[in-house]
Amino acid sequence: MVEGKINKIHGWAAMKPGIKVEPWSYTPRPLGENDVEIKIDYSGICGSDLHTIKQEWGGTSYPAIVGHEIIGKVITKGEKVSEFNEGDLVGVGAQVFACHRKDCSPCSNNLDPHCPRGVFTYNSKYADGEQAQGGYAEAVRVDSKYVFHIPSSIDPSHAAPLMCAGTTVFAPMLRKGVKKGDKVGIVGIGGLGHLAIQYARALGAEVYAFSHSPNKRDQCLELGASKFILTSNKDEVDAQRHTLDYLFITSNSKSNQYNEFISWMNFEGTVVLLALPEGHMTFSPFEFVFNEVAITGSLIGGVNIIKQTLEFAHKHNIRPIIEKYPIDDVNNALQRMDDGKARYRIVLTH
Ligand SMILES: [Zn+2]
Ligand SMILES: [Zn+2]
Repeated sequence: MVEGKINKIHGWAAMKPGIKVEPWSYTPRPLGENDVEIKIDYSGICGSDLHTIKQEWGGTSYPAIVGHEIIGKVITKGEKVSEFNEGDLVGVGAQVFACHRKDCSPCSNNLDPHCPRGVFTYNSKYADGEQAQGGYAEAVRVDSKYVFHIPSSIDPSHAAPLMCAGTTVFAPMLRKGVKKGDKVGIVGIGGLGHLAIQYARALGAEVYAFSHSPNKRDQCLELGASKFILTSNKDEVDAQRHTLDYLFITSNSKSNQYNEFISWMNFEGTVVLLALPEGHMTFSPFEFVFNEVAITGSLIGGVNIIKQTLEFAHKHNIRPIIEKYPIDDVNNALQRMDDGKARYRIVLTH
């Protein structure tokens, strides 16, 4: 049996609810025959990291090392791993295990994030009861099925946000079939939204970026939006009523007006929720019935989608706009993210 190289993984863990992580180390799981051990170089900060350390989604098991936009190099691999070699540049996203059995309905339908035996990258437990720990750390050991080669054209620090944010926005575009000429709205121009504009545009869609921040106008147009709509400007918003084929909601702001959002949809349009706002959403039934609008949600992306996300970014030159912070400064980076000041994604450098 191959042994892992790092016997104690040092990282930064949340010890209790709040926006604070502190040095903490853990003994990793034994290196399985299908596992790889990765020395981490970069870790993106995702909104989910904040929700988890603040325990906003409930059930955080502390100590928790978050981070699921991991980029690093393979330093050890189990004896059955043929896909990777030592030194390969790789990424890990928000999931580290699924069963991939033929009799598993989600796994056999490319919906492995919904596998009942699935394990997320952090705050999630393996079948043996051990807790998965994420990327704000020097290393991680995971099943090689959830490890991905990074195209050499993509700077490793830029690849980090593609592992979760990029995949999360691209997954529903692929599955719902967004295509050339479709009118696609994006609500919320942040970590997810600024990538959603680029992916939708590269699929050939006309992209409409909705934001309450007028200073994001130029950036949205540069990223490929056909039009920027300031949500506080009634004329700009009125011009969009009943026009959109798809609307991707990436914002979980308490001020979101879901009824208003739905009024932008064309007949048989589809609203896709990518954020998890607290509490319940309310809207009138009339838009659904009279305009036959559908509403759905989407959770990250499985193995095949992550591969396509990276390949498509390589092919169409899709890159996140990032701010880099040294991992030692992780608490300031988390605070900046929580304050909504990051433009548009923060990547920790290890
Ligand atoms: Zn994420
Ligand atoms: Zn499964």
